[in-house]
Amino acid sequence: MPQDYYAILGVSKTATEDEIKKAYRKLARKYHPDVNPGDKSAEDKFKEISEAYGVLSDAEKRKQYDSLGHDAFKNGGHGYDFSGANFEDIKNHFGGGFDMNDIFGNMFGGGRRSRSDAPVQGEDINLTVQIPFKDAVFGNEYEISVNHTEKCASCNGKGGDRITCPTCNGSGQSMSQKGGMFSISTCSTCKGHGQISKNVCSACKGSGYKNIQEKIKVRIPKGVDKNSKIRVAGKGNAGRNGGPQGDLYIITNVQDHDVFERKGNNIYVNVEVDMFEAALGAKINVPTPYGTISMNIPAGTQPGQTFRVKNKGIPSLKSGVTGDLYVVIKVRVPQIAVEGDRKSLTDMQHRYSDDARQRLIDKARL
Ligand SMILES: [Zn+2]
Ligand SMILES: [Zn+2]
Repeated sequence: MPQDYYAILGVSKTATEDEIKKAYRKLARKYHPDVNPGDKSAEDKFKEISEAYGVLSDAEKRKQYDSLGHDAFKNGGHGYDFSGANFEDIKNHFGGGFDMNDIFGNMFGGGRRSRSDAPVQGEDINLTVQIPFKDAVFGNEYEISVNHTEKCASCNGKGGDRITCPTCNGSGQSMSQKGGMFSISTCSTCKGHGQISKNVCSACKGSGYKNIQEKIKVRIPKGVDKNSKIRVAGKGNAGRNGGPQGDLYIITNVQDHDVFERKGNNIYVNVEVDMFEAALGAKINVPTPYGTISMNIPAGTQPGQTFRVKNKGIPSLKSGVTGDLYVVIKVRVPQIAVEGDRKSLTDMQHRYSDDARQRLIDKARL
């Protein structure tokens, strides 16, 4: 026995217009071919519920249907066979009080169709800048050339007038039908935005922005390191729909220095002393980023021994506290050219010889 239209929609014979509409929406979401790709039974069901709704949503047709009965109605020339219908027919059928986009717009959620009129902040721009070591210590002012977009002044970023897309009536989606299969796709006229431009701005050709090259003065603070990010507000790309300009991020690439090696906010410097200075102790000059300083190394200083000089490193970008300088001692051994010196050293060698190597060998024995 064929089901009647009320049964198909799962509503009672006394259902209100609203109840019928709700029932149809619920079923349409469930059985729409786009939600059930390749499922023939869902497709048939969708046509069935659409047919039922087409009749029951129309007060006049519903009245006829109620009085004539299902079979008579279906076969009596008043039937609505949706298998050969196109979307326009269905829409017309449903009348003005019903918006397919109510169903399908909700069905696909807001994420798929971005609101074209919502303000969006412009993109940020990252720009890598080579910074000499010196500027990482002291900071410096830079003039940087940036290519970015800016709101078109002629149209105030609008690009032209926006009107509701006549093809899709603003839904951003179009429905097509092929062999009884309804499918929803992004409207090709408005590319899914639901609006199109009219009176396109000639200055920006409708884009709403223009490309500019701008020279920007940027203060690079002391303490920047490799990959430090410095934000320059509002110098990124133009926003859309009145959204704010994006930001510019300067990424610093601090160059290595020949003498100073940076580790965090500390600096290491290798300083050579000769054998006699190391043995006897000495007052030595040491380079720092802030100029030469004098320091004392004690008698018996060993190669590789490290001395800390406080606050001669690099200021911390975050805390402002200056790091330390580490002086790493390298010992230079002289080439002995004078025979008398050789003899003196040999005499000393006897007095200062050490059996450290023998201790090592003993310790290493497995
Ligand atoms: Zn413009
Ligand atoms: Zn459209």
